[in-house]
Amino acid sequence: MDQDQTASIAMADALIAGERRALAQAITLVESQRADHQAQAEELLARVLPKSGGAIRLGITGAPGVGKSTFIEAFGLHLVEQGLRVAVLAVDPSSVRSGGSILGDKTRMEELSRHPGAFIRPSPSGGTLGGVARRTREAMLICEAAGFDVVIIETVGVGQSETKVAAMVDMFLLLLAPGGGDELQGIKRGIMELADLLIVNKADGALKPIAGQVAAEYSGALGLLRPITPYWTAKVVTCSALEKTGMADVRAQISAHRQAFEDAGELENYRAWQSRNWLWGEIDDSLGTAFRADPVVVSLLEDVENQVTSGQLTPSQAAARLLKAFRGDV
Ligand code: GDP
Repeated sequence: MDQDQTASIAMADALIAGERRALAQAITLVESQRADHQAQAEELLARVLPKSGGAIRLGITGAPGVGKSTFIEAFGLHLVEQGLRVAVLAVDPSSVRSGGSILGDKTRMEELSRHPGAFIRPSPSGGTLGGVARRTREAMLICEAAGFDVVIIETVGVGQSETKVAAMVDMFLLLLAPGGGDELQGIKRGIMELADLLIVNKADGALKPIAGQVAAEYSGALGLLRPITPYWTAKVVTCSALEKTGMADVRAQISAHRQAFEDAGELENYRAWQSRNWLWGEIDDSLGTAFRADPVVVSLLEDVENQVTSGQLTPSQAAARLLKAFRGDV
């Protein structure tokens, strides 16, 4: 066994034993894009995997400004005050381009971040959205091995990242806020279809009655959607993250969702299905990357693309020709 292997195994054992520093280091290791770090991360994950799976995995999304960080702070505190350990991770599509990140700002979730029962980690930055999502998923497994009871994965409700997050969690929460006018227009239907629980935030002060109306509108809209699973139909609750009200209702819905899956004996199946999908996603991504980087493909690409755009070849003929070249049987 070489030195790197010994180091990753020692790190895995330390984080399983609950050492906070080892937890942070382990996540840094899986986030690193250096080839030697990636090899160490594989060792570490192999050691950690059998200890993972113990947390309630929650995803949360919502448009900027609906109160995600205020809500996660309030809900996270509600959970840690009951003795649960809570990890908060993020998948931030903007970090892919800019290197910035939604949880990078240290002033967010200030009280929760100081609590010994909580661990907050910004989104890994750089690489593709797929890469960022994978590293967050691995960070989730590491947090589970470190004994966290609840892992919350946050994302901004603007696109592809929701699907990635929904694919790694047990339950997906959509945070909404009463705005002006057409409440149902702000959020994409596709995102609503992913949600197991809709939470209308800012149910306080003058907004309280409006929040109630908005919740009723969403309940109506949900009635028109086909449930994602036979074990659960999406629900709507209201809360005020600012006043820290409604947190017990959110908690109750999460417990009911968990109970429904456990009663049906489906939690393990659901997670196994997610792992299988993840595997195929990884294969598709890796093949696509290898294909685009292949020197033979690169040498043919421009010509083949031109033939497609000028109508000399159909896209499927062109794809077949390039794939044949990629396989080496030209
Ligand atoms: P994010 O962009 O979704 O993370 O939203 P933030 O948590 O940063 O909140 C955006 C704004 O909404 C801030 O000014 C918050 O103080 C405010 N806000 C968040 N939750 C509530 C709430 O429950 N009630 C009210 N009235 N304002 C809230």
